[in-house]
Amino acid sequence: MSPLVKWFLANAAALPWRPAAPRDKRDPYAVWISEIMLQQTQVAAVKEHFKNWMQVFPTVQALASASEETVLKHWQGLGYYSRARNIHKTAKILVERYNGEFPTDRKEIEALPGIGKYTAGAILSFGFHKAEAILDGNLIRVFSRLYKIDFLPTASAEASEHYWNIARDFATGKDAYLQNEALMELGRSVCKVKAPDCKACPFQSECKSYLENCTGKYPPKKERSYTAWYGIIAIIENANGKVFVNIGDYKFLKNQPAFPHFETSPQLAEGIPAEIDRIIGNAKISDFHYGKEFKHSITHHKITMKPLFITLAGTFKANKESWITKEEALNLPSSLCQKALANK
Ligand code: SF4
Repeated sequence: MSPLVKWFLANAAALPWRPAAPRDKRDPYAVWISEIMLQQTQVAAVKEHFKNWMQVFPTVQALASASEETVLKHWQGLGYYSRARNIHKTAKILVERYNGEFPTDRKEIEALPGIGKYTAGAILSFGFHKAEAILDGNLIRVFSRLYKIDFLPTASAEASEHYWNIARDFATGKDAYLQNEALMELGRSVCKVKAPDCKACPFQSECKSYLENCTGKYPPKKERSYTAWYGIIAIIENANGKVFVNIGDYKFLKNQPAFPHFETSPQLAEGIPAEIDRIIGNAKISDFHYGKEFKHSITHHKITMKPLFITLAGTFKANKESWITKEEALNLPSSLCQKALANK
């Protein structure tokens, strides 16, 4: 058992939506209702609402057959009535298409009105004990402090993926659901927004921001402003129709094969730059042209790339795996390379 789960089992607060025995599966319907109520509303304010709701609408069927007026009446006090309308719509869909049960496929759950990535993960994790990740404000705060992450998931698609990957790492093994719940509880009761109680935290011996005495800096208060970066990305094609990729010491695409790219300024993005000359050596160029500039975001960088298409009359010597077909290039790990190919 991980120290985090041990801590949770010893410290979990009793909440109306939590089972008395922490390892019991929860009713997915109750998980869903509690999670939607907890969005934008404090735990203390949700407790009574949740208990009343479950008495009036104990099942998906009971909720689906109620009138919208009744549903909204029982949502009174929680605000954000679109949440209640979506709950009602989803209950009807569950009855019509899924026999009143939740599907167990993440994509199918996420397709239901008002259910996002987080709520879908919570339903699968707490209701079905599946090893599915969750990521809410509490987890974001814990992860940001634990690993000194100086950007928020909202900064870009890559930033969001960075956080979700950490969440996925925690949501593994048979205790995945307990790890998830423990992280939520930790964020709520120990790793609080103001004055985290690090002495009581199971991560105190590994938490980077605690060890470096800078918990106050994480998570960053505001979205870090974007840093603009302008560069050239070169698609070098040899006489066999293959394109060149390498694993270079690049600023963005490290440790992965990518088209050569480097920083420059819009004024210098013309002709064959020296950086490319160094790669192709004496190989004869039969044609080259610049394609359309395109935008791309990586963490807090807003990148503008100008693709440079070069056709060689022959080829130059490189590792065998450096020359790949264009189809293979479309499957390179970063979409930056795919975008470059598409902007001829
Ligand atoms: S040690 Fe402190 S800052 Fe780090 S995760 Fe725990 S409570 Fe949060």
